[in-house]
Amino acid sequence: MTEDKYNHIRQAVEFTNLVKCTLGPRGMNLMIVNEQGHKVMTNDGATIMKNVKSGHPMLDMFKDLAKSQEIAAGDGTTTAIIISGALLNNALQLIEKGIHPTIIIKGYDLANQEAIKILDGIKEKGEKDKIIKTALGSKVSPEIKGHIANLIFKVEDFDNLKLVKLVNENPLDSELYKGTVFEGFTLNDRMESECEGKVCVLDFETNLETEKFNIDDPSKIVQLENAKISHRKKIVEKLKKLDVKCLFYTDTNPAFESLLTENKIMGIVLHTRENLDDICNAVGGKSAGSLESIDSSIGEGKVKYVKGREERKGMIYVEGDRETLIIKGPTSQTLDEIERSVYDVIGLMKNSLEVVIGAGAIEIEISKRILEYAKTIGGKEQLAIEKFADAIDSIPLVLAQNCGLDAIEVLTKIKSEHEKGFTLIGVDEDVGYSDAKDRGLIEPVAVKKHAINSACNVCNLILKTDKLLIGEEKKE
Ligand code: ADP
Ligand code: MG
Repeated sequence: MTEDKYNHIRQAVEFTNLVKCTLGPRGMNLMIVNEQGHKVMTNDGATIMKNVKSGHPMLDMFKDLAKSQEIAAGDGTTTAIIISGALLNNALQLIEKGIHPTIIIKGYDLANQEAIKILDGIKEKGEKDKIIKTALGSKVSPEIKGHIANLIFKVEDFDNLKLVKLVNENPLDSELYKGTVFEGFTLNDRMESECEGKVCVLDFETNLETEKFNIDDPSKIVQLENAKISHRKKIVEKLKKLDVKCLFYTDTNPAFESLLTENKIMGIVLHTRENLDDICNAVGGKSAGSLESIDSSIGEGKVKYVKGREERKGMIYVEGDRETLIIKGPTSQTLDEIERSVYDVIGLMKNSLEVVIGAGAIEIEISKRILEYAKTIGGKEQLAIEKFADAIDSIPLVLAQNCGLDAIEVLTKIKSEHEKGFTLIGVDEDVGYSDAKDRGLIEPVAVKKHAINSACNVCNLILKTDKLLIGEEKKE
């Protein structure tokens, strides 16, 4: 084979090798620094693929593969990339023996279909808490994992879950709140920090819009002042009459704030308008666009204000149906890493709860059965199918390598256990291998199916490409 012709396949294999070191519970971090000096430190395959520069349009296929795995299955990106790299590497070996890529593609397609059938045959009903823990497994420390897993376990509606991040805090103080949570502040320390009852959300200025006034003589200044006072008073009188206990508004106005405090109304200033709808939903009201529409827009609920460490910054909690997961962390990097794994799990929870056994056990089982299947096919395709099985083995192999184990020895032992019918044996970071089901290591079958299927598709696309040529620049 010519050196140049299959160089793009070699390049692709090298690119996929990037993420190998991050797989599993003992995965290492990678630091990616872009040209502007912006740093990302992570051991999440999807994040690596998103941030790393491929330098080649063909390699962008792996970036797309990671993205689609993340969106469709919520987890398993590193797995998908590693398998696609192993498939390509094995294809190269066959090509070197004179087997044409078309044959390899055919064999890989057959093996892929078989793998999906095998997964469907093996899958079982899984327990939610275990799925959550396995998915968080490789990203955060055991203590934090336990705490976050418990919070996620309690979430009722993943489609509507809101995520809020708080830096400079202890991850173990992360909480799940039934309602909506956002940043906001009160101007006045004398203000109540909690209240229950009628809630009003203003979507107009409490400061009178002074541009409307044409101040051409001094007496108008007095007039304007009076108009401002009267505007404030009218709002507060109306709120008082309607027995409003808590008011949200979007402009700072100290005089208005004092008036609210005198009237025992909790006033909360929002930094942006983006939370208005969320609050209205939580309290079952509407935002009032004018003084007149206040009457018909009132809602009811429970509001709490927790003062922040920095001045005039705090968190507002509004009770309601929507759940908010507040994740806390010491630095924005740790917080981002926790957030990413939480998103992984949220993505997973949208899958059905059908699972397979993790820690490489399922991969060993798939590979074993695909080898049996290969014998029924024969011909050169059989060789390709066997190479497919071998590529699936790369997952337990890399898991064992990353745990610092003698990977080949561990893999051989696990395989012989599976031959004896102990199909739940997988990689164990402490003792080499053990029953992965006993350790609660389960993963949604959807993750594995998607990972293998898309790895095979990307690999076959690359195998179908004979050569890469750089196109001439288009003239407009
Ligand atoms: P991915 O992006 O593919 O999800 P991860 O780094 O999250 O990559 O690693 C997932 C793999 O690690 C899965 O095969 C899973 O079964 C395995 N795994 C997770 N926790 C453990 C553990 N404690 N021991 C062995 N394997 C584990
Ligand atoms: Mg994962």
